[in-house]
Amino acid sequence: GLPHPPPRPLAERRVSRRIHVGPVAVGGDAPVSVQSMTTTRTSDVGATLQQIAELTAAGCQIVRVACPTQDDADALAVIAQKSRIPVIADIHFQPKYVFAAIDAGCAAVRVNPGNIKQFDDKVKEIAKAASAAGIPIRIGVNAGSLDRRLLEKHGRATPEALVESALWEASLFEEHGFGDLKISVKHNDPVVMVNAYRGLAAACDYPLHLGVTEAGPAFQGTVKSAVAFGALLGEGIGDTIRVSLSAPPVEEIKVGIQILESLGLRQRRLEIVSCPSCGRAQVDVYKLADQVTAGLEGMEVPLRVAVMGCVVNGPGEAREADLGVASGNGKGQIFVKGQVVKTVPESRIVETLIEEAQKIAAAMEDA
Ligand code: SF4
Repeated sequence: GLPHPPPRPLAERRVSRRIHVGPVAVGGDAPVSVQSMTTTRTSDVGATLQQIAELTAAGCQIVRVACPTQDDADALAVIAQKSRIPVIADIHFQPKYVFAAIDAGCAAVRVNPGNIKQFDDKVKEIAKAASAAGIPIRIGVNAGSLDRRLLEKHGRATPEALVESALWEASLFEEHGFGDLKISVKHNDPVVMVNAYRGLAAACDYPLHLGVTEAGPAFQGTVKSAVAFGALLGEGIGDTIRVSLSAPPVEEIKVGIQILESLGLRQRRLEIVSCPSCGRAQVDVYKLADQVTAGLEGMEVPLRVAVMGCVVNGPGEAREADLGVASGNGKGQIFVKGQVVKTVPESRIVETLIEEAQKIAAAMEDA
């Protein structure tokens, strides 16, 4: 068995209907999936596929690509075919690209029917085409592009306005018997966003795609997303997540995975339990924790590694971990399963931890 199975989740998951984005189930009791969006020009097939490959390697499960032009639409077939993860085409306003994306073999389309309602019968035709292709549609309501009518009615993008908009958009598909939907109601304010998703979760059984939109640069966006997703997932709300950062999309995936691991919604992989350091520290804890993290990156087995600045709390924390170090007097006491196995000079702490981690990993893989 696993040394550190995920803890009991904070809440039972909300019961949502299950949809499939390619091979990835979303909703029902499917694990919460992590997604991102490419930043390349979609028409640049090579660059887009390269970025999708990087995202896939980082653990991205679903990828979205923007489709603002005919050149982008023309690129979708090759991208959808060569990507190892399902590709969602993100389309605003132009119904013709929705049909192109469906024909291209995209695993889903993100489109807001409210934007294309003006085109007679297009919503009906999209519902028909998506149905025939067996692909779902994401309705992505966004505070920044809320329907004018709802903006006027509610005064601004309140949670109620976002929910009303989402349910109205969903009804445009439901009218044509199409319910293979997932929905997002994004806002840049985590409090508004959490309230919007709560309202939406109570009002329908569609799977929900969580996102804090325009969350900001990496630090701010990470905190905002962690707070908002933590609140919602902690109540069992949310089926797939996208962290939005003004940073490379691989960073979004790392943050998304870390959020799910922190919430116990996903098996934790490498977990560094490092102390904050204090006046007792006899080693540069920050540097050591960073070096150990970098040295063990990519380790696939779940491993809890304690990095402690002194021997006061070191042995205690190290006992709870698979592996640990407590530093003192220019040396590091290396612990494996709570036992001191070695004492090495400070300069050899990182390499020794990596060696011991590899031994433990090999033993776990054999078991
Ligand atoms: Fe301070 Fe030692 Fe605790 Fe680190 S392990 S915070 S150095 S007492």
